[in-house]
Amino acid sequence: MDQPLSVPPGRDLRLADFDPDFTAGLDRDTAEAETRRHCDALDELAYRLFAEAKRAVVVVLQGIDTSGKDGTIRMLASGISPQCLAVKSFKAPSALELSHDFLWRVHAAIPPHGTIGVFNRSHYEDVVVVRVRKLVPKDVWQDRYAQINAFEKLLHDGGLTFVKCFLHISKKEQRQRLEDRLKDPKKQWKLGPDDLADRERWDDFQKAYDDALTECNTPHAPWHVVPADKKWYRNLVVARIVRQTLERLDPKFPKFDSSLLTKLD
Ligand code: AMP
Ligand code: MG
Repeated sequence: MDQPLSVPPGRDLRLADFDPDFTAGLDRDTAEAETRRHCDALDELAYRLFAEAKRAVVVVLQGIDTSGKDGTIRMLASGISPQCLAVKSFKAPSALELSHDFLWRVHAAIPPHGTIGVFNRSHYEDVVVVRVRKLVPKDVWQDRYAQINAFEKLLHDGGLTFVKCFLHISKKEQRQRLEDRLKDPKKQWKLGPDDLADRERWDDFQKAYDDALTECNTPHAPWHVVPADKKWYRNLVVARIVRQTLERLDPKFPKFDSSLLTKLD
């Protein structure tokens, strides 16, 4: 039995239709071995993208607290050479960032050609957390769906490929992960009062994500819903999606100038 990772653009995307604990019947060892193979392939593909230096990729990671954004980045970074990667985490905007339009800081973080950017959170916070925490009025965040679609189209037409992944975990799994964080001195620093307050608004977040993923699920930048209750399955799915994306792009080494061969003394 398989579970689709996406819905066709224009159709309603409802997180409740996706099983966060889905693992396609795989066991952990098999999945980890397959992820490793994807990472090996990714390293080579990323190197070719870097050498070609004409296009870029951005992997957007969204998900509620504890959904595994950091862990997913660790997996990608374990496979891809750091010179081909640019990781950016988006926190609550600074005073300077708030004095610009909401996409200003995002545009500034778009990686140069040849690079794979990984966004830990993104402009989607500006239609999700700001809505749930009522940081901006409804008419402002509602207009942002169209603004995001236009922004992503502009970048797409300029040679950027978006890989948008929503890391989907269950409320039960989040409880377990929050409890682990509360008890583990090495993880406690990750928790703030906002995280527990956000959990109380679980349904509001799911609804805000349903709407954001539906409204911004475009042919040029579609959303993937990644089952993420099992970290090893989440890693496998993200590694596979990024690999398939790069294989589709099929980056080429620049043409070699063979006259250089005669110039070596
Ligand atoms: P973390 O990713 O756990 O380090 O937390 C970053 C925090 O910044 C989260 O609570 C996000 O919801 C918040 N955040 C990120 N972007 C925005 C934004 N545009 N507006 C408000 N809060 C944001
Ligand atoms: Mg947090």
